Amino acid sequence: MSEQTGPAPAENEKSPDQRAEAAGESIPEAEGTHDGAASGGVTLADVLLAVEELWPESLAEEWDAVGLVTGRPSQPVRRILFCVDPVLEVIDEAAAWEADLIVAHHPLLLRGVTSVAANTPKGRAVHRLIESGIALVSVHTNGDSAVGGVSDVLADAIGLDAVGPLTKAANGLPEEGIGRVGDLPEITSLGDLAGRLFGILPAVAGGVRVSGDRDGLVRRVALCGGAGDSLFDAVRAAEADVYVTADLRHHPASEARASSSDGRPYLIDVSHFASEWLWLPAAAAALDNVLKDQGHSLDIRVSTINTDPWDFILTPGEG
Ligand SMILES: [Zn+2]
Repeated sequence: MSEQTGPAPAENEKSPDQRAEAAGESIPEAEGTHDGAASGGVTLADVLLAVEELWPESLAEEWDAVGLVTGRPSQPVRRILFCVDPVLEVIDEAAAWEADLIVAHHPLLLRGVTSVAANTPKGRAVHRLIESGIALVSVHTNGDSAVGGVSDVLADAIGLDAVGPLTKAANGLPEEGIGRVGDLPEITSLGDLAGRLFGILPAVAGGVRVSGDRDGLVRRVALCGGAGDSLFDAVRAAEADVYVTADLRHHPASEARASSSDGRPYLIDVSHFASEWLWLPAAAAALDNVLKDQGHSLDIRVSTINTDPWDFILTPGEG
């Protein structure tokens, strides 16, 4: 089996490659026998169907770039690595583990490119993926919006009840959309809620920043994994006592606090990476379940590399 996934890049890139492209993704069998897409084995096309079942591309925001980035639908898949950021270090981790597919939350190529030359970081990543025979699929805002998505997992982790979307999906079910809002089972102090988040999220240099009265009481919590400072109108409409998100910039944060009459919503600013990392084990388990239901058994794991860009922080008194 290992020969099937230990790709021979030089061979794979010859004429069959062009035939595959010409044939399009709709007939993966055309290539299946060539690269040994295993009689009875799982192909990338099979996994993509399962990915679509869990995180439909129709749920992605218009500006987003989700779906398959590298890989042939006919290629066999036995090992899948989940990560937040498909950076070189993670691709190397996948290659060392002989993974056939990376499911990344962030798109590698969000904006249009005119080159993937290997003298740029993104180009190097594309080269490394193809040379290692690793397919890459991005599950981004479709993974945020879907039930069991990034914010759902965060809501679950802090025990919210009666959870619904902060903004409803344009093309989805009523329970789908970006961000979530729900109630804590018990009224809690802002300081305790921040402490709970600090304990749940992976440890990162930036820690957790809070705006508001540490002893202020909160029950209704709005949250959005990843950068959520465009959702303040929805947070106010939801009458949340506190908003948990990442990448809060000065002006939206300061204006949100200034426009509030009683200090709410308080703000808890967590690491972008950490808030999305939390989704990975749940997403990996969900994909494993769907594939198992179809009779497939794959090796699925979550990257252990911390790709939060921040390394240390100075705060008053600790300089
Ligand atoms: Zn993100």
